[in-house]
Amino acid sequence: MARLLIDKDACTGCESCISACPFGALSMKEGIAAVDEKCTFCGACVDVCPVSAITLEKEEKAVTIDITAYKDVWIFIEHELGKIGSVSFELLGEGRKLADAIGCKLCGMLFGDKEAVDKFVKEAIAYGAEKVYVMESPVLKQYRTDSYAKAAVDLIRKYKPEIVLYGATTQGRDFAGTVATTIEAGLTADCTGLDIDPETKFLKQTRPAFGGNIMATILDYPNYRPQMSTVRPKVFAMPQRDDSRKGEIIRETLQMTEDQVRTKVLEFIKGTETVNLADAEIIVSGGRGVGGPEGFKPVRELAEVLGAAVGSSRAAVDSGWIPYEHQVGQTGRTVRPKIYIACGISGAIQHQAGMKTSDIIVAINKDPEAPIFKIAAFGIVGDLFTVVPMLTQEFKKRLGR
Ligand SMILES: Cc1cc2nc3c(=O)[nH]c(=O)nc-3n(C[C@H](O)[C@H](O)[C@H](O)COP(=O)(O)OP(=O)(O)OC[C@H]3O[C@@H](n4cnc5c(N)ncnc54)[C@H](O)[C@@H]3O)c2cc1C
Repeated sequence: MARLLIDKDACTGCESCISACPFGALSMKEGIAAVDEKCTFCGACVDVCPVSAITLEKEEKAVTIDITAYKDVWIFIEHELGKIGSVSFELLGEGRKLADAIGCKLCGMLFGDKEAVDKFVKEAIAYGAEKVYVMESPVLKQYRTDSYAKAAVDLIRKYKPEIVLYGATTQGRDFAGTVATTIEAGLTADCTGLDIDPETKFLKQTRPAFGGNIMATILDYPNYRPQMSTVRPKVFAMPQRDDSRKGEIIRETLQMTEDQVRTKVLEFIKGTETVNLADAEIIVSGGRGVGGPEGFKPVRELAEVLGAAVGSSRAAVDSGWIPYEHQVGQTGRTVRPKIYIACGISGAIQHQAGMKTSDIIVAINKDPEAPIFKIAAFGIVGDLFTVVPMLTQEFKKRLGR
């Protein structure tokens, strides 16, 4: 625990520290600065004190954990409204590679009421979990930070996983952060790539940094475990489901009662998000080449006839032609549809970062040298205002729409 020390003899009562404190933790008592419990030890007051009367004493914590006791790769199996989040399956697929690389087991961590657990434990095993750590209780029926974090913290402390991966979803982002601070482990948020050093077992966690200008590969503090990340949905492929797989189920009891949970779920109101890029099987995207907001009309018409979602490049979003929710790329959504149709998009590296793993990429661009053609399975060199309506007409005919 840190301490803020105020040298009463040196303090001149100038009050510079009071206005510098972002938390209102300092006040004057008999002409001398005094600190209260709101202090977060940020050090802002130390920097402004003109007579160096304030010092921050930080206690170095001895690292005593035995990292060799930590093993296995764990995936948090998240579910909502009776469905497992597809990111959990994607992480089971990627977790398999990590577990194989360091020769350990791939495990799921699943919480819920009886109905959810009975249903989802089988699915976790079918998608590759060799063991599933389960806590089953009515208190865990719906995700709530208190009860889920308590369950995870108790399991992690008892069974000591080497790595824990969560989806970078609303649930995963909230949950993983709470777990990390409670067990004092590192957490790399919003990863777009994972790798592992088989010798040191260091997890290499890649994510955009500095506003997406660089891709940073981050290693956790080497003497702490578990190594933990949240990973964006659709970054990794879905593994094969195999219902014949067998797995071990380890059941533990939640040490928390309903009255100890500080929140209640009164109602679940589904978000108003109309753009579901993440789950779309087909995406038709427009870029700067559409020339203006009205240029998205043919893109939308093609999307409609194909039952597709509409995406866009950042250039179109930055120009105010289409809202940010449609943006695909490094600073937008990562998508992995079966078909991605890029209309008037050059294929900059930052755009590719969000869509290059689509199964089939179709590019429509009037510049034959556009980089998008290098990753496209089908390229059409031409004016999108001619090509896209032709495609729409043809699909209308063939699909009878
Ligand atoms: C930190 C950072 C993060 C970024 N994040 C993202 C991101 O998340 N997503 C993203 O998309 N970009 C992102 N960018 C921007 C990226 O670098 C490109 O600037 C952007 O993708 C370009 O968009 P575009 O392809 O629509 O435009 P341009 O590069 O201008 O390409 C337009 C294309 O349209 C073609 N064209 C023009 N008229 C027609 C027509 N009538 N018919 C057919 N083709 C036509 C042109 O030949 C050209 O190839 C990021 C950049 C940075 C620095």
